[in-house]
Amino acid sequence: ISVTELTRTYLDRIKTYDDKIDSYLSVCGESALEQASEAQKLIDSGKGEMLCGIPLSIKDNICIEGTPTTCASKMLENFVPPYTATAVNKLRAQNSVILGKVNLDEFAMGGSTENSAFKKTKNPFDTTRVPGGSSGGSAASVSASLALGSLGSDTGGSVRQPAAFCGVVGLKPTYGLVSRYGLVAFASSLDQIGPIGKTVEDCAIILDGICGQDPKDGTSLSYEAGASYASAVSGGIKDYKIGLPKEYLTEGLNSEVRNALYKSIETLERLGAKVEEFSMPSLKHAVPAYYLMSSAEASSNLSRYDGVKYGYRAENCRSFNELIGRSRAEGFGREVKRRILLGTYALASGYYDAYYKKALKLRTLISQGFDEAFSKYDVVLHPTTPETAFKLGQNTDDPLSMYLADIYTVSANIAGLPSISLPCGYDANGLPIGLSFTGKPLGEREILRAAATFE
Ligand code: GLN
Repeated sequence: ISVTELTRTYLDRIKTYDDKIDSYLSVCGESALEQASEAQKLIDSGKGEMLCGIPLSIKDNICIEGTPTTCASKMLENFVPPYTATAVNKLRAQNSVILGKVNLDEFAMGGSTENSAFKKTKNPFDTTRVPGGSSGGSAASVSASLALGSLGSDTGGSVRQPAAFCGVVGLKPTYGLVSRYGLVAFASSLDQIGPIGKTVEDCAIILDGICGQDPKDGTSLSYEAGASYASAVSGGIKDYKIGLPKEYLTEGLNSEVRNALYKSIETLERLGAKVEEFSMPSLKHAVPAYYLMSSAEASSNLSRYDGVKYGYRAENCRSFNELIGRSRAEGFGREVKRRILLGTYALASGYYDAYYKKALKLRTLISQGFDEAFSKYDVVLHPTTPETAFKLGQNTDDPLSMYLADIYTVSANIAGLPSISLPCGYDANGLPIGLSFTGKPLGEREILRAAATFE
């Protein structure tokens, strides 16, 4: 079929089904069709690249010039950025078709997409359940075939956890592999843009399209490009050495998820890999370290929303202090305020040593632990989440249990490592279970290859 037909099919599906899933915040119907016809011309003249004409959705914290970028926050409800994120620019330079912007937890803070100020996205496997988060709109749109692939962002698991909950594949690249320019900052030292797709190969193809050093992001890496990621997915895992951290096999791990993990290990061993348990005690402290560091950075990053330069502005204010205070009080939702308070507290001079500095020390310990692990193993294996998708509303009043659900994903961000989640079975309710491979820095090829053996 032609790119226009393909794009139209997706736009029609969005019209028909998205009122059940609520994954899109805005749909770019007209421009998508224009982009499709351009792409078709290129394909007809034999010049189309791999991503040419592929219809994608983009998480609504990634800027596209002229298109609203709300971060699912009242604060940015009417914000239309004057520039485009490098990752999206790259996709457009390869003539991908952008279908629209998808839902997330406000400013990417959360794990269920329930913190969106605008709508609650539903899990396509069971619409009474959450799609995960914060890239819940990205994962749900791919899972429900309302986009062929998507860009999400991952600060502590936000690409991988929703991918696991929605039965699709999500990849968080090595910190610095993909430019963060144009990604609205949550915690700058942890944030990475990553692809979500139906298959491991789809994620590899999108990663090929968005990676690379960018002068506009000082933390983006210069590295030897090497063979494409898409070409790395084949090759098998014979003689792979795979480590399974004991600290992750905790009581909180649901027995069905545990069984799926052990079944996957059998498959890996049958394919010629050697899987071995190892211990990394610092992992036990990853969640508190993550929430301290990410909230500290968030409190600083979000200070720019003051109602003065752009974003929501409270009305009828009589003083400058009232303007800032009320704009922030009215513009931010509960979870965002909680993180700002937590972060400001952790950075306060009297508490800095007790909290933030300790978290930084843990960061070093966790990185060293992984260095040691990768001196023995090609990749590290673990569940993506302790449980499968939970009911909408189930955890909204219990932030701590929501935070603990990030136990297996945050360490990859803390250490800047690549990590991929892929479906590895279903629980008794028919909900997908996610399996993760985490790799050494720039070890995307190894984790892609390990993940691809399940397809
Ligand atoms: N659930 C985590 C949090 O709430 C991760 C969020 C993310 O990766 N953006 O911080």
